[in-house]
Amino acid sequence: MAGKKGLDPEDWAAFEAEAQGLLKAAIAQMARASEGPVWQPLPEEMKAALQADLPAKGSAHVAEALARLLPYGVGNTHPRFFGWVHGSGGAASLLAEITAAAMNANLGGRDHGAIYVEKQVVAWVREMFGFPLGASGLVVSGTSMATIVALKVARDARLNARATGVGAHRLVGYASNQAHNCVARAFDMLGLGSDALRAVPVNAAFEMDLEALREMMAADRAAGYEPFLLVGTAGSVNVGAFDDLAGLANIAAEAGLWLHIDGAFGAAGVLSDVLQPRLMGIERADSVAFDFHKWLHVNYDAGFVLVREGALHRAAFEGAPDYLASTDRGLAAGRPWPVDYGPELSRGFRALKIWAQITSLGTEALGAAISRNCAQALKLAEMVDGEPSLERLAPVASSIVVFAHRDGDAATEEIVLRLQESGLAVPSVTTVRGRRAVRVNITNHRTRDADLQVLMDAVVAIHN
Ligand SMILES: *Cc1c(COP(=O)(O)O)cnc(C)c1O
Repeated sequence: MAGKKGLDPEDWAAFEAEAQGLLKAAIAQMARASEGPVWQPLPEEMKAALQADLPAKGSAHVAEALARLLPYGVGNTHPRFFGWVHGSGGAASLLAEITAAAMNANLGGRDHGAIYVEKQVVAWVREMFGFPLGASGLVVSGTSMATIVALKVARDARLNARATGVGAHRLVGYASNQAHNCVARAFDMLGLGSDALRAVPVNAAFEMDLEALREMMAADRAAGYEPFLLVGTAGSVNVGAFDDLAGLANIAAEAGLWLHIDGAFGAAGVLSDVLQPRLMGIERADSVAFDFHKWLHVNYDAGFVLVREGALHRAAFEGAPDYLASTDRGLAAGRPWPVDYGPELSRGFRALKIWAQITSLGTEALGAAISRNCAQALKLAEMVDGEPSLERLAPVASSIVVFAHRDGDAATEEIVLRLQESGLAVPSVTTVRGRRAVRVNITNHRTRDADLQVLMDAVVAIHN
């Protein structure tokens, strides 16, 4: 029977016992997420085992191999994972992924149960951000993909360049110099060229300087360029800063530009009393890209793109090849479908883990966990400020604290590498105002205040 599991119906009895064992191990992995090292490298023998030849015959030991892999993740399920803006995941996603795997639905389109779950998620997101009923949305892999989709809608709303390409048009857009690289990559992939994304300077709080933005737009216009897009960042990747979204919305309205918000992690702050005021203006955006897999802790991967004018969104992606013809009744009913709103035809059931997370926890608990992380970031900043060997490099705007060792860049980098290798905590290294910085990001519902003390004690011990 070895090697045929899942292909022949008679194999399923043996499969069930195996699956139950693995399920227990997977649940234990999540239930004990706070224990053990934050990160550990994959053992050499396991790396070697993953360089095998293409198997011609099946193996009876797949479940064991899967179970062995469980402890070797990135570490973002651990309460002292602070290195990058990753969500920490949870039980609802595990349940949903089991269900989705059993259904094996393709969410490109058609009229089946899974599609209604995604429609529900779209409606909830509309409500979260105060968008009108005509707004459309799509579950995607993450904010990088959401940005490509949103900026394609923005480009086509300006040019209708689907068939012709952008030709001689000199479209330019603006984001702060703190914007995530996915925006420039979207410009590249959409044929606009990454140079067409202008990097606007920031103020002392790392927020876009709106006066500089106005001057850059005027200079571009005078030079024959065609400004079409403003990108506001709600939660910058380096220091967690929020651009003045209402100010950006005013400029976009005056100048007739598309306003896109990269709220990869920060947009989830609409659910938090602490961050909600920083997001004023997001309800006026033309599009928003954000992640459920960051501060809303849906397991990887789960991003979302929201577009104010659903008709423009659809116009940028819709097409009608014969094999995708829809009908008024039956399984091929229910147009428009997700394929009409994005580049993917075959799509998995990501929407289910989003639905399960929101249904099981509710928006209040999700928002409260965000507020708690913000309070923890402030508390950590206070601890850093009280430590003579350390110097903080930016104000705390949301979840991120950046600081340096006074002995210089090498000492700062050493702190991060030693902590990662010890398994005690995982911060990362970034550069702030030309200096290497320890970056501690707290978007983690498992982090307790005691974890901050463990981190600080370890940081201080390294150069003592
Ligand atoms: C993480 C992040 C992105 C990229 O999102 P992915 O989900 O990793 O594709 C974009 N912008 C910001 C501000 C981010 O923090």
